[in-house]
Amino acid sequence: MPERVIVIDYGGQYNQLVARRVRENNVYCEIYSYKTPLEQIKKMNPKGIILTGGPNSVYEENAASAPRELFEWGIPILGLCYGAQLMMHILGGKVERANEKEFGKTHMALDQTKNPLFAEVPKESVVWMSHNDYVTKLAPGFSVIAHTDNCPNAAFAREDQKLYGFQFHPEVLHSEYGRQMLANFVLRICGCSGDWRMDDFADQTIASLRRKIGDGKVLCGLSGGVDSSVAAVLLSKAIGRQLTCVFVDHGLLRKDEGDQVEAVFGPEGPYELNFVRVNAKDRFYEKLAGVEEPERKRKIIGEEFIRVFEAEAKKIGRVDYLVQGTIYPDVVESGLGGESATIKSHHNVGGLPDYVDFKEIVEPLRDLFKDEVRKVGLHLGIPEELVMRQPFPGPGLGIRIIGAITEEKVRIVQEADAIYREEMEKAGLNRTAGQYFAALTNMRSVGVMGDERTYDYAIALRAVNTVDFMTADVVEIPYEVLKKVTTRIINEVNHVNRVFYDITSKPPGTIEFE
Ligand code: GLN
Repeated sequence: MPERVIVIDYGGQYNQLVARRVRENNVYCEIYSYKTPLEQIKKMNPKGIILTGGPNSVYEENAASAPRELFEWGIPILGLCYGAQLMMHILGGKVERANEKEFGKTHMALDQTKNPLFAEVPKESVVWMSHNDYVTKLAPGFSVIAHTDNCPNAAFAREDQKLYGFQFHPEVLHSEYGRQMLANFVLRICGCSGDWRMDDFADQTIASLRRKIGDGKVLCGLSGGVDSSVAAVLLSKAIGRQLTCVFVDHGLLRKDEGDQVEAVFGPEGPYELNFVRVNAKDRFYEKLAGVEEPERKRKIIGEEFIRVFEAEAKKIGRVDYLVQGTIYPDVVESGLGGESATIKSHHNVGGLPDYVDFKEIVEPLRDLFKDEVRKVGLHLGIPEELVMRQPFPGPGLGIRIIGAITEEKVRIVQEADAIYREEMEKAGLNRTAGQYFAALTNMRSVGVMGDERTYDYAIALRAVNTVDFMTADVVEIPYEVLKKVTTRIINEVNHVNRVFYDITSKPPGTIEFE
């Protein structure tokens, strides 16, 4: 079992970020609900515990709590916001409603610059606050180690028992030195060695898949996305031709994407596996004809996808294992790992598909975050263009074409998107812009080309960066690049006579259009 730190989740918005920050130090980390019995947590033998923030107030009846024994266990514990308030409440301090609630960036000054928790942190820095309550009296044995104008106990510690509390959120990037503080906690206070490596993960996973599967048959639905690709390669390395990958090409992929997937996973590619590509675009276009409503389009694509996959699976017959590309955020968001239980149920987690005859699900990426999946992918030698691929929605271009879908519209958006991506790469913006794509608006307007009147479609370009997953900022693409992309799209893509750039952030917009 790798050395680990456990995050106990009180329902805070940033709980996954806490775990990521720990893992950035090459220390394995898992999230558990505060309802998990202490005995179970103890069995995992963690080097330290972090308690997250949460929506409750500790003095309310039925507020999320913790057993007192947790703090008497003797391992380092860091409470963040609610977690810190809870530690004080249980150990004899006082938490009250603040007159001035603090939200956002706040200046904090250290009272103990020598504390190992603050190694390499300057005396004054900005931290991110988000609270209504505050600690008015520290529990016996604790002392203040940092304060802000409105918050006398912004950070506190009881050194002899290695108990620490932060009123602020070190896990969000708005806390300038938050990363450093969490690294200090994990490496200096908990004494973790930071030797958890993605390469080890890949090798260990391949070995354990081989052991588990034996000579069983395995079926994997390949989408061409990062997760299913990495899962497929892990399995191919573990069991070779006992694996069959079914790739459903619904005709709503980006330009040439289907062929790219086939080049990597097909018979010409480097991996040992059985590859089945189903070219199902006609079926999809037929079902989607005339359908304009986004939710209905999504539903039709989702259902048709299952039908096609099911038909292929039947040809293969009974399999022992079905592979799913579930990753850790899916697990946590489904409420299985953490406490933010009700955000959404994830299609990958929980409900087992009943359309394929199989014994068991295998989820080799279940413990990893997205960037970790990418690292494993690169380690396994999967081409960078596939591993670094931008998030692409399951319904594909189906929801990047506003209104009804036709083969012609798919062609238009594919061509425009390919030009856009090419120019962004040429300008070196592909590294700085998180997600960018072209969409086809349902608008047609009058233009003039070569002295002739046109009445054609408008393409919308979008480029956003998202820092915390819940919000997204628009990327300020240089005007020159936008002009170049626009000219090329209008010249090269038939039936487009206008290009727009969408400068709406999220919220109020969403990243995708439908
Ligand atoms: N609900 C508590 C408060 O308002 C804790 C908030 C938090 O953890 N972000 O102070």
